[in-house]
Amino acid sequence: MNPPGWPGWWQSVLDWLFPPHCPGCGQVLGRRFCAACLEGLEPCRLEAPGGVEVFAAGRYRGPLRRAVLDLKHGARTASVPVLAELMQRAWRGRLPDALVPIPPEPRRRRLRGLSVPGLLAEELGGRLGVPARNDLLVPARALVSQKNLSREERRENVRGGFRTGAVGGLDLLLVDDVMTTGSTLAEAARVLRAAGAGRVQALVLAAVESG
Ligand SMILES: [Zn+2]
Repeated sequence: MNPPGWPGWWQSVLDWLFPPHCPGCGQVLGRRFCAACLEGLEPCRLEAPGGVEVFAAGRYRGPLRRAVLDLKHGARTASVPVLAELMQRAWRGRLPDALVPIPPEPRRRRLRGLSVPGLLAEELGGRLGVPARNDLLVPARALVSQKNLSREERRENVRGGFRTGAVGGLDLLLVDDVMTTGSTLAEAARVLRAAGAGRVQALVLAAVESG
């Protein structure tokens, strides 16, 4: 993703150095999901704990898992517009007042220098004409990584993990890359609702299958 205003020739140089490829399988055929990868996506509608409605572009497996891992670990942001488009297609809600990316664990943000949910929210905001607000939800304390925790431990770990700004009356759409048990989205929605937000829904790139 280039800053707006970069000249076209620079994009051509980048395309030559890093040929545009399908983020799902790596085929060099343009910056989009190829037909085969698209077919396996399964956009879905789920519910996080606390009755939070969640839309996902697909399940966290196969091509989408690969795209997420590449984005997180390789920090290759060229796929952000493609992935945001998949999220936009999966979303069936009403237009919110603002998009709210789930803030990364502070240590991770420092190590990688970018927040994947933040990038996705920014891109989606441009597409929907809705502001992406990084300031409405911030970590209240350092969270332990959720990676190796059980469902119950995850819920405990995120409890009280967020602080929020002035959200009174705003309809909000939470944005995250991967939903595992939904406990992070549930806690974020709980905090925002307690602060007076209106409707709170969520849109994620990929949902881990439960069970
Ligand atoms: Zn593909």
